[in-house]
Formats: sequence, structure tokens, C-alpha cells
Amino acid sequence: MRIAIIHIGQETNDFNKLPTTLADFAAFGIYQGAEILDRMKGAGQVGGCVDAVADGGMAVEWVPIISAWAMAGGRIDTPSRLFFEERIGTGLRHAGRLDALVFHLHGACSAEGVDDVEGAQLAICRAVLGPDVPILVSLDHHANVTQAMVDLSTAILGHRTQPHDVYDTGRLAGDMLVRILRDRVKPVMAMAKLRLITHQEQYLTAAGPMKIWFDQARAMEADPSVLHVAPCPMQPWLDVAEGGWAVVVVTNGDKVKAEKLAAESADLAWSMRDDFMLKEAVSVDDAVRMADAADHGVVVLSDTGDTVFGGTAGDSNLILEAILRLGIKARVLMPLIEASTVATLVAAGEGATVTLAVGGSSTGFFKPLTIAGVVRKIADGHVKVPVFQQPEFDQGRTVIFETGPVTLLISERTGAAGNVPDVYRAFGIEPADYKMAVLKTASNFQFFKSITSQVIRVDTSGPGQSNVVGLPWRRVPRPIFPLDPISSWRG
Ligand SMILES: [Zn+2]
Repeated sequence: MRIAIIHIGQETNDFNKLPTTLADFAAFGIYQGAEILDRMKGAGQVGGCVDAVADGGMAVEWVPIISAWAMAGGRIDTPSRLFFEERIGTGLRHAGRLDALVFHLHGACSAEGVDDVEGAQLAICRAVLGPDVPILVSLDHHANVTQAMVDLSTAILGHRTQPHDVYDTGRLAGDMLVRILRDRVKPVMAMAKLRLITHQEQYLTAAGPMKIWFDQARAMEADPSVLHVAPCPMQPWLDVAEGGWAVVVVTNGDKVKAEKLAAESADLAWSMRDDFMLKEAVSVDDAVRMADAADHGVVVLSDTGDTVFGGTAGDSNLILEAILRLGIKARVLMPLIEASTVATLVAAGEGATVTLAVGGSSTGFFKPLTIAGVVRKIADGHVKVPVFQQPEFDQGRTVIFETGPVTLLISERTGAAGNVPDVYRAFGIEPADYKMAVLKTASNFQFFKSITSQVIRVDTSGPGQSNVVGLPWRRVPRPIFPLDPISSWRG
């Protein structure tokens, strides 16, 4: 058996106007051919898929084509879109006879002028491979599943948890491959598309309504004819024509059952829509005061509006402003992604005392804030720290800048945006020594978990804000909950 494997991942935030470029993919590595399997051995979706197929006892010749991943961000630019389309088409055309394709995607990628990048990529795959070669697609659970994705693929697999376990999702694809090629199952799919968007605060699958919804999916899979159920609560910052939550059910040849279960799953999610909208975030000033009053750190302040893992730019200064204005004395660690600020501080040099305006350069959501402080360190930003699927990355030139009680890690590129303690350690900073740490994520607290005393969600504005009704939506289908009065998930 010869199986092609492709992995391309980017989650788009339409409210971050900075385009994602090929350089943003290159910062995490663009790999082609055999090196993909070496790099992803035992890790990521590719590693999980390869391991599951091996465990299934199938002798397979892998045909790895391209693997690339960029941190979530603005729409990918046209050169990036065309580069991947060309690599996919050329790679598959030169691959020789193939028995299947595994395509690991995010599922919520849009480009300049193109809402459904992954649907277009799958169209190229289908055109080259013809109608009969199985195409397995694995998606992030924040994916926006489109009709094109369903029509052009053989089976869609989704993450089973948030925080994500990408290796597990890769294994699901590998297991499905074994069932199709060895056990001769015949996947058919049904999708229920929901007129539903909710903020990110109830996205974790360990508790609350998301757990109930995902538990139902697992229970449905107890039926041996149900091959997979993928609930996909689209992330709440993708403003596209087919935007909205979805659930995909894959059965062994039973289309009616797939449709029935997809509708049941959609009904359950819809019935909990108000629970999904429950907010825990507190105002910026209250959050900072609560953290300051805590017995000990590290108190994680989740900057929900500037969640870089959700594609924002990392240029928010709202929590910094509050800490300085409120006269907080406890030590605070926070990232800032801003190339212009890095340039100014690098020019000033290590040891320099500098007064400058920081924040707000990228998204237009924040007003620059004037601060004074000392440049403690200037470094290149190549970091060997595993984050999600990537073993190392380049966050661009990086400056450690101290202002009042705050240590800022200021970088040119997003990298992991200070959401991983080892990133700070790479620059000689021990996060456990701090009372508070600002994390640019609303969900991915797992990297800090071992040193965290508590997590406070901060109700900051920005491209990732919990106030989804307040975002400038233009393209999502209307009516849609919670932007409009609407009584059915079908619209
Ligand atoms: Zn996700």
C-alpha cells in the first residue's frame, strides 16, 4: 500500500488584519519529502497516524509530501495559498499510484479573497487522485467544516479534546485508514451545520457543556457501525460565508444513521447554547487586584482578547496599563509581540534606559501606552521548545525589558507568545519566580500548569474577545446565534 501524507495547519483570525505569510510558516519549519517522517516521529498528527497504521500491522510505503504549520493569525496571503496549492498538486501528481491520502489540516484557514482554503486544497487532491482513492481529513475541533470538505473527502476526523491532543487525532486517522484499506469499511458522512458561534470560555472538554457534547459523541461511537463523530465548535473569530459550528458523523455505509446522529448531536449543542455563552472573565482591574491579593503565584492572567493561540497579534497593552496604573508591586511576567518596539530597543542596546510607546501597532484594537524601563537582554529568537506540533521555532529578535514590576518578553514574531514557561527559560527567566504571568491564550494553560496557583480569565477586548457580539462580523451567515434572534440551529 502506498499512502500520501500532507500536513498543513493555520487557524485564521479574521479580526487580526495582519496577513500570515510564508515567513510565518517558515518560522516553525516547512518540511518536504522524507524529512517529514523523521521530524514527526512519534509526535503530532503525522506521527500519530504513522504509529497507528504500524500498530494495525499494515505494511505501508508512506509518500510524505509537505508539512507546514504556522501559529494562528490573520488570513494567509495569496503567495502562501498559491505555494501550498502548487506543492499539493505537484506532489500528488508525481507521487505515482496511491492507495490513499491522509491530509492533516486545521480546518479554519482562510486567505486573502478565499474563505475556504482547505476546501480548495481538497479539490486539488480530489482532481488529481480521482473519485475512488480514499482521502482522510483530520481537523482541529475549532475547524469550520464546509460542505466542500465533506463532499471532497472520504472521512473527517476531529480532535477529541481541548486542549488538543494532535497525536491522538493522527492516530484516529491512522486507525480509519486501516479500517478502510484492510477491513474494507465503507465510510459515509453526514454533517449538521449549526447557526451558532460562541466565545471561547467554555471550550475546554474536561467540564461544562463542551464535556457533555463531546461525551455524547463518544457514546454514539459505541455503536460499531458508527466509525467516528466529530463535533467541531468553530473558533469564534473566523468570519467566513460558511462560518458556524458543525458536527460530522461517519458511519460504515449507513447514510441515514449518520444524518440522524448528526442532527441529534446538533440538537444537544443547540439546547446548551446559553451554557456555552456563560462568561467567567472578570474586568481587567478586578483581575489584576485579585491576582495581587493572592497568597502566592504564579497567578495566570489569561488575556482572552489577545489570545495569540487564537490568532491575535499579541500587541495588547491593556493588562500592562492596569498593572502600572494600579501601582502593583508584585512581579509580573508578560509577552508583547511588536516588531517596531523590538527595533527601538535593539537600537538602544542592552542596559539602556528607554521611554517609548508600546502596544497597539498591529491590530488597531489598542492605543499605544508610554512606558519607561531598562533593556535587560537582547537575543535572537530561535527557541528549541516543543509547542503543539513543532519542536522548535523562531520568534524573531527578542528583548527582555523591565518596567516597574513587569518583565516583558518582547519579540518580533509570535512564536509561542510566552504561553510556555520554557520559552522564558530559554532567555534566562524563571517564571516560577513571578507572582503573575500574563498568558496570551484563553484555553491553553497546560504548559504553565505545574507552576500555576490559579487562573483568572481577564475580560480584555481585542480580536479574540469573549464579547463575540461586539466583533465586526461581515461574512458569517445570518441569522446566527448569538448575533441575531434565532430559534433553530438550522437557521
Ligand atoms: Zn483548536
